[in-house]
Amino acid sequence: MRVAVPMETAAGERRVALVPETVSRLSAAGFEIRVERGAGVAAGFADEDYASSGAELSERADLAAGAEAVVRVARPTSAEIAALSSGTVLIAFLQPLTDIEGIELLRQQGVVGFAMESIPRITRAQSMDALSSQATVAGYKAVLLAADRVPKLFPMLMTAAGTIAPVRALVIGAGVAGLQAIATARRLGAVVSAFDVRPAVKEQVESLGASFLELGVHGEETAGGYAKELSPEEQAKQQAALEERIPDFDVVVTTAAIPGRPAPRLIPATAVERMSPGSVIVDLAAETGGNCELTVPGDVVDHRGVTIDGTTNLPSLMAFHASQLYSRNVAALLQHLAPDGALALDWEDEITSGTCVTRLEAAS
Ligand code: NAD
Repeated sequence: MRVAVPMETAAGERRVALVPETVSRLSAAGFEIRVERGAGVAAGFADEDYASSGAELSERADLAAGAEAVVRVARPTSAEIAALSSGTVLIAFLQPLTDIEGIELLRQQGVVGFAMESIPRITRAQSMDALSSQATVAGYKAVLLAADRVPKLFPMLMTAAGTIAPVRALVIGAGVAGLQAIATARRLGAVVSAFDVRPAVKEQVESLGASFLELGVHGEETAGGYAKELSPEEQAKQQAALEERIPDFDVVVTTAAIPGRPAPRLIPATAVERMSPGSVIVDLAAETGGNCELTVPGDVVDHRGVTIDGTTNLPSLMAFHASQLYSRNVAALLQHLAPDGALALDWEDEITSGTCVTRLEAAS
């Protein structure tokens, strides 16, 4: 199977879909990998490393010719979709729940689209779970951004000049990113509390050495392990409870999300106004609108001395390891779709059919 790896073109995207380590493994398994010159440079992978891993380096114009699959991180632009031949397999974060137009373009073009967001969350597919691998990186980076901005040391320090109290951090949403944020904040020495609407999470939070913040709000969980959206009354109750508790914290990392829906609004401006000057909110949900009312996606704002960091695409800021993990996820999916290095799509298979968002009419 011939696989093409283009350089990412989305603004600010530094990751690459396959790294040299994975190229070696896929080449040994019978895949032919062609990589656009410079595709890995922003993530720290040189063309020479790809060449010595068995990839063929190519200019953009020649990249997709003869390729049976194109693997990317971000969804392609409409011009990039138009350049794909009918029947090409495309693997990327295709945003199937929100980019309706893009998905329709793929369908019209006859592209066989596999969305990394749609990998079923079952044990067999864990090695392909790119939402989790990238959320892990984002959760880690969110805490580092907060640590960089807050004018306090995270750990308690006992010095000749006296004792310094540790930072008090709150993590809201204890899914994959939130749990990594808790672990990272703990490693830096903060005293950490966390909250999630899924009651099952309490134990995981406590096993990481954080305390579970009781807000009196309990949500439901879907079969896939995701939270269900709260009713407007419950959401108002959560906002009020948080407003009460939030002044206790120096750092707040929010990661609350409902797949395919705008981010739940958890922190109203009135709550921010009760925080001490110098406090920091890092809003990991900025991309889908933000968990804080004052978040400006892609920007860092100051509201009465409180910093609200709405930086988007945090995994791209840690492009080396984010790409390495993503690349392994993509390789696992490729090997699932082409077990012996030749494409063999089994539509009865839960991973293949669950991840596919567009396919040729004849194949359906
Ligand atoms: P996500 O990114 O969709 O959401 C992040 C977190 O926000 C979730 O924990 C959710 O409960 C929480 N949340 C939603 N609304 C909230 C609110 N109003 N207030 C506070 N928190 C709120 O989810 P995710 O991190 O990708 O995954 C969630 C869960 O899915 C995981 O913790 C795990 O249980 C499950 N999962 C399973 C597998 C698997 O392979 N079986 C893999 C990954 C994740």
